[in-house]
Amino acid sequence: MRRYHVITFGCQMNEHDSDRIRDVLDEAGYLPAAGLESADIVLLNTCSVREKSEQKLRSEVGRLGMLKRERPSLVIAVAGCVAQQEGERLVKRMPQIDVVIGPDHAAALPRLLEEVEQGSLPRVRTSFDVDAPRFLSSILSGRRGRVSDFVTVMKGCDERCTFCVVPTTRGPERYRPSEEIIAEVERLVQRGTAEVTLLGQTVDSYVDPLRNVERSTPIENAPVGRGAYGRRDESEFPGLLRAIAERVPALGRLRYTSPHPRHLTRRLIEAHRELAVLAKHVHMPVQSGSDRVLKRMLRRYTVAEYSERIAALRQAVPGLTLSTDIIVGFPGETAEDFEKTLELVDAIGFAGVYGFKYSPRPFTPALKLGDDVTAEEKSERLARLFDLSEGQRARHLERCVGSTAQVLVEGPGDRGGYTGRTERNEIVHFDAAHDPTGQFVEVAISYAFRHSLGGVPTSPALQPGPGSRAPGPRVVEPQPTRSPRMLPMLH
Ligand code: SAM
Repeated sequence: MRRYHVITFGCQMNEHDSDRIRDVLDEAGYLPAAGLESADIVLLNTCSVREKSEQKLRSEVGRLGMLKRERPSLVIAVAGCVAQQEGERLVKRMPQIDVVIGPDHAAALPRLLEEVEQGSLPRVRTSFDVDAPRFLSSILSGRRGRVSDFVTVMKGCDERCTFCVVPTTRGPERYRPSEEIIAEVERLVQRGTAEVTLLGQTVDSYVDPLRNVERSTPIENAPVGRGAYGRRDESEFPGLLRAIAERVPALGRLRYTSPHPRHLTRRLIEAHRELAVLAKHVHMPVQSGSDRVLKRMLRRYTVAEYSERIAALRQAVPGLTLSTDIIVGFPGETAEDFEKTLELVDAIGFAGVYGFKYSPRPFTPALKLGDDVTAEEKSERLARLFDLSEGQRARHLERCVGSTAQVLVEGPGDRGGYTGRTERNEIVHFDAAHDPTGQFVEVAISYAFRHSLGGVPTSPALQPGPGSRAPGPRVVEPQPTRSPRMLPMLH
């Protein structure tokens, strides 16, 4: 029996791709290894949205190369964005690598591994399945669903943001038929999943290739406010949300990531107002608070348009929380531009900000603009952005104290008790008399930690007995396994 080990770099999309790769290998009869030491195949699933991940790949392959010298039968495979971007070059530069597959070739992995194991030269597959796109579903044979899981609705990206490598590494937009998406959500729910997050690089640009979801009128499909009629949207994402809500009524909570502000249409805002299943949290990347920088990034909205759409969304869903992505030090970003970003963050009041220093990426149009903001300036700007956003987050969490929240319990916490998320995406820790994993539990919030909340279940049946830990200053907040600064919602 051959055993595999998967190492994932990057975002949720990559984590999800790694799960699908595991499914494919399990189906082909491979077994998961307990760790590197017992693995016959090690697969590195990479990300190239920012430079660090490529450096990480190089050092991982170096480390694995040493293992391979001791165990020459060890197979090293590289998947994901770096694999797609570098293709053949990877095996030339790092001859320890046996298989390179881009994001569209997970299904071919068992065959390629077999060929390599039979002594073939390194195998490289990096084309895009543009003519007949394939989407791998989660294979749940015999296993229970996770409390919260992901379902891919589209892949690739047709935006041309000048900083972003994704159109190169993930190809053009391809959409999954709504029937397939709904069937996967249904299957997950039947297996015990309570929350589904729809995944896509620009998830709200979704169009059903078979045209089965309800279509919007041109006015409904216009973004709110300025430019509304001139820039009608073709997306049918709200129709997909409605179809899921209608056809899978047992689904507890629906989220999506990561949208583009361009597709925040009237119809999408209506969907948020009307569909109780939609979480009251939206991650809406803004990238900069300066129109000049947004233009150079080719984001195709202004600060005023972003703010107007967000205001309309908030008006439709009182209490909705927002998070965002921001790049600091984009080429040509002046101190004044950056001040505008701080002003926007201050004005909107995000519950979470994922901030990144601009990193020049291969094949991106921004390369021509140079990289003229110094490393020190980028660090200083990022630190100021985090100071502001951490303060906002702390105030937001403090305001939650005294309220009650519906918490979807994800499981036991790292340091005892249980952990879950509210519909507004706050993390809540609490003690309970018995294990409520997978259930929605009402929790009275009694304490704000730095990054999360603590509380007590309101149901007497769940309240912990005397002597158990009460959430409060005595409780040490569990350390996030990955800093929220380092884990963007989606690359
Ligand atoms: N849908 C998202 C949007 O509207 O932009 C795209 C998600 S993107 C692929 C993930 C995040 O990584 C981006 O929002 C951006 O903040 C960051 N990012 C992408 N390219 C970057 C670069 N070259 N340097 C620094 N950060 C980058």
